[in-house]
Amino acid sequence: MTECEKLANCSFVSCCDAYERSTAAKGFVSMYCKGNRMNDCVRKKLSNTFGKDVVPKNMMPNGSPLPGTQTDDWDERALHFRRYLG
Ligand code: SF4
Repeated sequence: MTECEKLANCSFVSCCDAYERSTAAKGFVSMYCKGNRMNDCVRKKLSNTFGKDVVPKNMMPNGSPLPGTQTDDWDERALHFRRYLG
C-alpha cells in the first residue's frame, strides 16, 4: 500500500496541537493516508471537487473536526459534505 499523494502537503497532519493530542487522528493517518481507505478521504474528495481552499485544516479524513476544535469558519461545502459530494 502506498501512501496518499497529498500526505506531504496535507494540512491535516500539520494542523495544530489538537492533532498532536489526538490518538484518533493518528489512527486516521494509518487508516486513510497510509491505508486502504485513502480514496474514501473526505478531505481528498472535497479538494478534488472544489479545490483545496474549501478543505478546513482541522477536518479529519472522515469529515469530522479534530477533537476539541471548532467548525465556525468551515465552508458550507465542508460542513455539509455529504450533500455536496453526493
Ligand atoms: S488526510 Fe486525506 S488528503 Fe490528506 S494525506 Fe490523508 S488521505 Fe490524503
